[in-house]
Amino acid sequence: MCDQSILIVGSIALDTIETPKGSRENLLGGSTTYATIAAGRTAPVHVVGVVGNDFPPEGHAIYRRFAADLTDLKVVEGKTFRWGGRYKGNMDERDTLFTDLGVFADFDPQLSEQNRIVPWVFLANIHPGLQLSVIGQNDRQQKVVIDTMNLWIETTRKELSAVLKKADVLLINEEEAQLLTGTVSEIDAANNLRELGPETVVIKRGSRGAILFGNKGSLSVGVYPVKEVVDPTGAGDTFGGGFIAELARNGSFSEALVAGSALASVCVEGFGVERLLRVTDEEIEERKAFLRSTVNA
Ligand code: AMP
Repeated sequence: MCDQSILIVGSIALDTIETPKGSRENLLGGSTTYATIAAGRTAPVHVVGVVGNDFPPEGHAIYRRFAADLTDLKVVEGKTFRWGGRYKGNMDERDTLFTDLGVFADFDPQLSEQNRIVPWVFLANIHPGLQLSVIGQNDRQQKVVIDTMNLWIETTRKELSAVLKKADVLLINEEEAQLLTGTVSEIDAANNLRELGPETVVIKRGSRGAILFGNKGSLSVGVYPVKEVVDPTGAGDTFGGGFIAELARNGSFSEALVAGSALASVCVEGFGVERLLRVTDEEIEERKAFLRSTVNA
């Protein structure tokens, strides 16, 4: 069987979140955390990241539960990355309240021997300079999937362009695609983005699902009708983790979209990662079956 191991680099955070459904402080969060929980259900995940010595034991326990290799998860003196966000109205938009890099400010990852040859790489949302450093140290690179956010498009475009040149799949939301390409048309944006490097581009449409553009045309998936959206934080990262794990498992883009969407639909039903920790395989299978019926080629 092919090696389905996935290397994930991104943020590991303590989040403060306000949504119309309530507010929470110091929740375990960060792009790597959501992606690891999503991908780690079915694939061996190797984590690259850093936390401070204030990172709670429950956070370490979750990483031990979902990751196969934590050699390159460093614990250093200082404060864990912290992020605060506030959602309003229908929760499709959010304001960042604060971003405190903490120990991420000086993070310079040096991959261990075994992590240099992990074949699947997920560059989750983090400074593109860090994404570039990790990708430069990994020599297997069967497939590189990347995610980003508006902050990096606005502030570090040169480094982001260098990462895009190395990417096979770009995951991006509608506003970010527009910001990066200057075009509102989804298809034009996707074509422009594919010219920057990635052969495949997945545009996340928030509460309207996602659409993939690749060399065989386009594929879209809808959303699972969740009873109540409590906190959308991490839905994109969860989608990314589920997407790459399924792609590593069976190579089907359609199934990868379905798996990512099913896990993302679970993520939004609770604050932080709480729902993802409790979801059963049966619930996920039921959501995947529904989502398969929404796929359009
Ligand atoms: P998402 O809702 O998928 O965009 O991901 C939200 C997660 O991204 C939160 O848990 C934050 O901790 C993390 N995050 C927010 N801003 C940044 C940033 N500038 N760099 C890395 N991660 C971030």
